[in-house]
Amino acid sequence: MSVAEIFQSMAYGPAPESAAPAQEWLEAHAPALPLFINNRMVTPREATYFDSVNPATGQPLIKVAQAGTADVEDAVRAAREALKDWKRTPGHLRARYLYGLARQVQKHARLLAVLESMDNGKPIRESRDIDIPLVARHFYHHAGWAQLMDEEFPGHEPVGVVGAIIPWNFPLLMLAWKVAPALATGNTVVLKPAEFTSLTAILFCELAQRAGLPPGVLNVVTGDGQTGALLVEHPGVDKIAFTGSTEVGRLIRRATAGSGKCLSLELGGKSPFVVFDDADLDSVVEGVVDAIWFNQGQVCCAGSRLLVQEGVAPRLLERLRARMEHLRVGDPLDKAIDIGAIVAPVQLEKIRRLVEQGRAEGATPWQPSWACPTDGYFFPPTLFTDVAPASTIAQVEIFGPVIAAMTFRTKSEAVALANNTPYGLAASVWSENINMALDVARAIKAGTVWINSTNLFDAASGFGGYRESGFGREGGREGLHEYLREPWEAQGTEAAGSETLPLAANGHGEAPSSGVDATATAPLAEADGARGNGHSSDELPPLGLPAIDRTPKMFIGGKQARPDSGYSRTVLAPDGRYLGEVGEGNRKDIRNAVEAAHAASGWATATAHNRAQILYYIAENLSTRGQEFAARLATMTGQPLAEAERELEATIERLFCYGGWADKYDGSVHATPLRGLTIAAHEPIGVMGLICDDRQPLLGFVSLVAPAIAMGNTVVAVPSERYPLAATDLYQVFETSDLPPGVVNIVTGARETLARVLAEHDDVDAVWYAGPDSGARQVELASAGNMKRTWMLNRPPRDWRDPAQGQGRSFLREATQVKNIWVPYGD
Ligand code: ADP
Repeated sequence: MSVAEIFQSMAYGPAPESAAPAQEWLEAHAPALPLFINNRMVTPREATYFDSVNPATGQPLIKVAQAGTADVEDAVRAAREALKDWKRTPGHLRARYLYGLARQVQKHARLLAVLESMDNGKPIRESRDIDIPLVARHFYHHAGWAQLMDEEFPGHEPVGVVGAIIPWNFPLLMLAWKVAPALATGNTVVLKPAEFTSLTAILFCELAQRAGLPPGVLNVVTGDGQTGALLVEHPGVDKIAFTGSTEVGRLIRRATAGSGKCLSLELGGKSPFVVFDDADLDSVVEGVVDAIWFNQGQVCCAGSRLLVQEGVAPRLLERLRARMEHLRVGDPLDKAIDIGAIVAPVQLEKIRRLVEQGRAEGATPWQPSWACPTDGYFFPPTLFTDVAPASTIAQVEIFGPVIAAMTFRTKSEAVALANNTPYGLAASVWSENINMALDVARAIKAGTVWINSTNLFDAASGFGGYRESGFGREGGREGLHEYLREPWEAQGTEAAGSETLPLAANGHGEAPSSGVDATATAPLAEADGARGNGHSSDELPPLGLPAIDRTPKMFIGGKQARPDSGYSRTVLAPDGRYLGEVGEGNRKDIRNAVEAAHAASGWATATAHNRAQILYYIAENLSTRGQEFAARLATMTGQPLAEAERELEATIERLFCYGGWADKYDGSVHATPLRGLTIAAHEPIGVMGLICDDRQPLLGFVSLVAPAIAMGNTVVAVPSERYPLAATDLYQVFETSDLPPGVVNIVTGARETLARVLAEHDDVDAVWYAGPDSGARQVELASAGNMKRTWMLNRPPRDWRDPAQGQGRSFLREATQVKNIWVPYGD
């Protein structure tokens, strides 16, 4: 082409990045990459390898090791060994190591970027300008946290050995997201990269060697899902940090259930990109390009559902098609390329299949007129219109360069459409009316909302999902908690176990792993059979103690409701005396309670001041009837009256504590590089299932309910199985304290049965469980259905009387989710 012709067409010429240094690196390592264990590059014990392929050419780059059982064992052992010193290494020293890693990444940025693009197929412009700089930024940011650890998190301990399992879409960036916070907080790591993209992880290990990272602190085992599963199941791993598909996330949730392993899951998404009719449409077009064609759309938070206000839809779609016509798909190492290659044939096939399905279901696809290269795995940018909100392409994550456009008329329709997905990872909102945009941002259920922008990330801001997009946050202070244990927990795990924990004064406290013990409550028939006619006059309490013969029902939607089963269970005192009966709750009662809790969702938008007032008022009314409550507690549990009085006082104080916190658990504004604000807002999770244990039954109940409602959640609580009257006695207190109906619902009955129903329920957003380990396992297993957040309060068991164990920020954190709202400003 002559210069004159170039001036005529104004076409971009190729601007190839040299692959030579990366080729040299590959040649130096040929034919196969090692594993990285205990600071040494080692060959896998079984010497099994597979090819890593360049998706832009279909040609193998090098062989990658398939780590087996023995390799994973070696790696975990190395990490465990290294943990002893690393967790005691002063924060400043750890900061230096992390700083060293950041510097290494910067010094070798180009090699990392080129290798990443060759291995993954992403355009060099993105790996060079986005991925690798963010990797360095992540290590710098966390070097800072390592330095500040003692000051900001005094007494906290690392979780231990972290098994990190990452996907192929941002190989090195995902490594950084896991490794940097884990190491900063004193954990050691065994990382498993995705099978398609392991190259930069091994290069990174070489950089770690240069940075002098102590042996065993970071280990890398490559391989496919089987290697991942070995890591998940290994008993020497204390936490799994996973990013990948919801499907595999669910498997991991189930595999770790009951193991006591911590878990954070960053899963899929089907993020809405919402355009109002007053938006700047030219900016919107560029936004869509970044939202869905960044990284070929292989982004968990890709804006894959384009929701456009009806009036501007034709205009926007026309401009979008014009822009698509000018996008360039091709060699990832060409700097003038917009869209690179799809990572692997299996992914390309999945995209093709879903596009075909979209067509078959009646949507209209549009693709530019030009053809993609044919010698690698390429797919053209694709826009679907005439998309039905319930259709496959509107619901299923495609993970490719395909966007599904739908229209809406009103703001509320936009919000309903945006939330019409089981996911909740991210969203973009476009409007020149910032008031409305912020209003919509608050209404969309997603962990990150970008206003008039998209796909912005930074180490200072947490990232993670609502609902089936997983739980846990990565980045910023929010992300650090995933890798830390509370000071009391750290002491608890080092102590001998349950003997060291104060039990209820009557000795009826639970051993940490005891099974269900129903000696104090029994179905009516059994109780009757054992004792003739139930209670009789000779079973009345001794003189001086009030008789308690009560038959409370369930408390649902602010009203007392009969149990659906029509059965009651007898409540006995520790000495076998009859105390009363409570309803035998079942699945239907839970369903009714969940419905009532949803109907009370206005509680989430009540002012924090209002919520605080009600908590204080509950405390006041409880205090008014204090004597009566304490006496009953003493009878119920067999503890001395003085002890029961202390429990009552502690309960009142706990209510005050969360009345205090209600308007003080603020969010923050993160210091990201954005010219604008990155607001981290604490939002309620929604409907929470709270399952109480038997320790200090009144205080234990309030310790769960109060923080949850203080933060705006509505709850379905299952009180202590052994001493349910402690909670049912609260009905009148709630009724007289202006607590709106449905905010607190109480279902009595068999703890494990009800816990399971709550964990399985798709409209329950989180479950807190304070019970034996066997029950914890089933709750974790059952929660995998809708990937609800779970919090096990029995590891180790808590003494509710100790404020360090029974109240505070960790409860508030678990009662909220963080939404990061990015708001750029300027002309
Ligand atoms: P993606 O959709 O991004 O390919 P996957 O969820 O399939 O995500 O994979 C993410 C990571 O999980 C990869 O490293 C993969 O090897 C790993 N993986 C796949 N199956 C399992 C499993 N059963 N257990 C643990 N890890 C797994």
